[in-house]
Amino acid sequence: MIYHQMDENEAAKSLHTNTKTGLSTQLADERRKKVGRNELSEGEKQSAILLFFSQFKDFMVLVLLAATLISGLLGEYVDAVAIMVIVLINGLLGFIQERKAEKSLQALKNLSAPKVAVLRDGRWSKIDSKEAVPGDILKFSSGDRIGADLRIIVFNNLEIEESALTGESIPSQKHSHPILDDNPSLGDLNNMAFMGTMVTRGNGIGIVTATGMNTAMGKIAGMIQTAETVMTPLQRRLDQLGKILITVALLLTVMVVLAGIFHGHDIYTMFLAGVSLAVAAIPEGLPAIVTVALSLGVQRMIRKNAIVRKLPAVETLGCASVICSDKTGTMTQNKMTVTHLWGGGKTWTVTGSGYDSSGDFFDMERKVEVEREKTLHQLLTFGTLCNNAEIKLSGADLIVEGDPTEGALLIAGAKAGLEKASLLQQFTIEKEYPFDSARKMMSVIVKSPSGDRFVVTKGAPDVLALKSDAILWDGKQKVFSGQTVQEVNDAVKQLASMALRTIAIAYKPMKGKIPEKAEDVECNLTLIGLQGMIDPPRAEVKAAVKECRGAGIKTVMITGDHVDTACAIARQLGILSKSTKESEVMDGRRLNELSVKELEAVVEGISVFARVSPEHKLKIVNALQNRGHIVAMTGDGVNDAPAIKSADIGIAMGITGTDVAKEASSLILLDDNFATIKAAIKEGRNIYENIRKFIRYLLASNVGEILVMLFAMLMSLPLPLVPIQILWVNLVTDGLPAMALGLDQPEENVMQRNPRHPKEGVFARGLGWKILSRGFLIGLVTLVAFVIVYHRNPNDLPYAQTVAFATLVMAQLIHVFDCRSEISIFSRNPFENKYLVWAVISSALLMFVVIYVPVFQPIFHTVAIEPRDWLLVLGMSAVPTFLLAGTFFSRKR
Ligand code: ATP
Repeated sequence: MIYHQMDENEAAKSLHTNTKTGLSTQLADERRKKVGRNELSEGEKQSAILLFFSQFKDFMVLVLLAATLISGLLGEYVDAVAIMVIVLINGLLGFIQERKAEKSLQALKNLSAPKVAVLRDGRWSKIDSKEAVPGDILKFSSGDRIGADLRIIVFNNLEIEESALTGESIPSQKHSHPILDDNPSLGDLNNMAFMGTMVTRGNGIGIVTATGMNTAMGKIAGMIQTAETVMTPLQRRLDQLGKILITVALLLTVMVVLAGIFHGHDIYTMFLAGVSLAVAAIPEGLPAIVTVALSLGVQRMIRKNAIVRKLPAVETLGCASVICSDKTGTMTQNKMTVTHLWGGGKTWTVTGSGYDSSGDFFDMERKVEVEREKTLHQLLTFGTLCNNAEIKLSGADLIVEGDPTEGALLIAGAKAGLEKASLLQQFTIEKEYPFDSARKMMSVIVKSPSGDRFVVTKGAPDVLALKSDAILWDGKQKVFSGQTVQEVNDAVKQLASMALRTIAIAYKPMKGKIPEKAEDVECNLTLIGLQGMIDPPRAEVKAAVKECRGAGIKTVMITGDHVDTACAIARQLGILSKSTKESEVMDGRRLNELSVKELEAVVEGISVFARVSPEHKLKIVNALQNRGHIVAMTGDGVNDAPAIKSADIGIAMGITGTDVAKEASSLILLDDNFATIKAAIKEGRNIYENIRKFIRYLLASNVGEILVMLFAMLMSLPLPLVPIQILWVNLVTDGLPAMALGLDQPEENVMQRNPRHPKEGVFARGLGWKILSRGFLIGLVTLVAFVIVYHRNPNDLPYAQTVAFATLVMAQLIHVFDCRSEISIFSRNPFENKYLVWAVISSALLMFVVIYVPVFQPIFHTVAIEPRDWLLVLGMSAVPTFLLAGTFFSRKR
């Protein structure tokens, strides 16, 4: 017999497991050793050696290597070896950078590896899904991806979408009954759940029947390819731009070579100089450095609790103009405490805070005995029974496992001595209709000690009121009519205006067969009353909202909660002003009535959307996007996935988020905190600015290098720099400081500017002008220094070349500080970026080594520069940066 044909007990027996306690950790470890980890094998990875050699496949580098070989054969051993060494070091650096980028991307993948809830040694806990073994008991609920192949043993309204396996996109209804068919297709196995499929509704428990490559997914897929890396818009633009830059650099290099030959230089020297110049000046490594800068930024974001799942998001973050954020848990602490209860026209208050289960109940000022207040007693009992959460002891503290809203109800019950465990000894839960945020309700069918059955439903009061036709008033049922409806509404409003989240509780007796569908149970109810719970705002959110406003980013609260609760919290957080206008708030009902087009017309003015269902989020994203906004949208449930996917930056919650939401997202908040979104946006802006900084530095340096050679050749001068010097500049002076710019601190005003336009070009905001003007000046001053010294003593060409070399290096090392600011070199403390200071000091020291240490002089064709000529070098090299600093030309254009 195969698992689907067995009943639950037979399946458990044949997998040697116990459905009440699960496997022991020891047995699980033994099984893992035998069957291996629960993972699908991945495609081949590029080996380190291949990656290393791929650094040298660039055309110009190959030409350079060939030219070096020729010069070696011609007897220029020193030059040949020196050039080879420099090319090797360059390749090695490229290799290290790419490895680092790859490793950090891999680490990211591991961070977001899926987890499963498993029963081991009688306790539920979360483990990495790759640790699961056959015989493990797994629990799953709406939004989870199934971690292994399972035989379902418990199901509540369970639906699983199996399109990844069967191609069928309509979810199948699952159950736990044996299927006797000998040879059913995968799609018919409704008592099994398969690895990689997605729970779209309800919850359940199953026994693992197969793991890893033995699962249906493993058999079909055979291999999964590693996810391809997507290029960010900037990388794509640089890739295109790179082709143009390469062409221009090559053309100029050819001009240099031709002009040199025309003016009498020998062909061989000019060829080698040209190739070296091409290698140095072609920014072929730019995309790779951008990747490194992006992945380093991603590392910094992790330290701030934001995991970037898709690299392009790093850039898009900097363009965000609206953040649509959930309220509960993201803006608030998700630590709920019931403080007020209402039933039959009476209000009670409860003392105590957090998850401490001691507290007293008061009716006005008077302390009450809960047993004597029938409605209050029922409200608390039913709140505890219709409840999936559990209170557990963790060290000395009580913690809630499960939904905090339900945890609050449990604690309120416990304060009256109504513990869930002891209630469950009298009452049996026969069926559960799980909560979902579209229905905004949850129900259970309870069997009382006397054998009677009844339905208990809890949910949003306005929804429950529509499902009720009676209300409990002074212990008696009263028809739910005009006046009582008004009283309930007033009570809800009263609690909500105190920023309390409200839950209504209702019940009805039940006879006959237990219905499958929630709709058939959640009707004709009798309303008992309300529980109102406080969920304090997170302390840091108010300041984050303010900072976002200053950065031109609007914060919009989207919540399933009552309008008044939402508004009260939004006012506390500064999302709404004290004098809120009606047009700033919209509820789900109004959203239903509007088309996306109609919503577009008003959406800019709205700061709070309340009582929304997840599908409304997509409408809001679309309306905002149609208005030209770049939208960040948070979410946690299955139904949030479409909105998260459509948003420019989809954000999932790390703690409360489901697998589905996480997979749809481009950013995960490890701490579910709104302030983390702000931190990520700031980091995103900074990363982009840093990339601009080193593009500016590298390209201006390249322009300078090409122009000095071109000018000299056009003026019929000797070569101002020899090939090995050009290559050295490319490796040391261009390389180190550019990397350090990638790690630069954000400019102070980075969160005081408006968001960047997403279509902005690489050279926008005056960058192109800055590159050309500074590059031109760097080339010019190098040439001037060369000409002055050369004319003084035309017989000592190496001396003039050494001065030109030093001027070029120093001009770049000074210019790098200018690149740190969009405004002016004077607007920032030059010593703030320690990496940069060290990069500049090291580059300068290496330059002195090359110029003054005798063993290097013949290799680099240098001679010691006399002290007085350093005045010339320093004077000239300061010009490109300081001539234009603070002038009209250095401002944004
Ligand atoms: P957001 O996180 O988007 O700010 P939310 O998570 O509070 O909003 P939902 O969880 O959809 O929104 O809750 C909407 C309403 O449903 C709540 O105001 C509450 O009345 C009710 N509700 C919430 N949780 C439960 C639950 N576990 N059982 C029954 N009703 C619930």
